[in-house]
Amino acid sequence: MSIEPRTVTLTILVTKQLEVAEPAWCTDPHRKASFKTDITHNGPEITGALTTDRGTFHYLTAWLTQAPHSEIHPLVAIELGSGTVELDPDDVRAFTDGVRRHLNRLDALAAECERLRGEGQ
Ligand SMILES: [Zn+2]
Repeated sequence: MSIEPRTVTLTILVTKQLEVAEPAWCTDPHRKASFKTDITHNGPEITGALTTDRGTFHYLTAWLTQAPHSEIHPLVAIELGSGTVELDPDDVRAFTDGVRRHLNRLDALAAECERLRGEGQ
């Protein structure tokens, strides 16, 4: 058995406060980041809404998001159904082009519905 002093290197978790640059658009209270990769800046939400006699239905909630220790640029987060996708600006524009085409098809359905009800031109 050696009597020479020796050392060993261990991996341990150390917690400390971390000052992070906050973008002007971020409204996230940042209450639950345990690791740097958990830090996510989120902007205010925009939401579409349809109000009917059965209540108000919200759709296409979106906001700016950025995880500065996971990605470089902010993205746009969009809630779709039960999931959320994060898109870059080109992908957002491709998505909104598709939504516009869908809305045109929805207008065509409304016109067809009016025709079937004898209300349209
Ligand atoms: Zn933030």
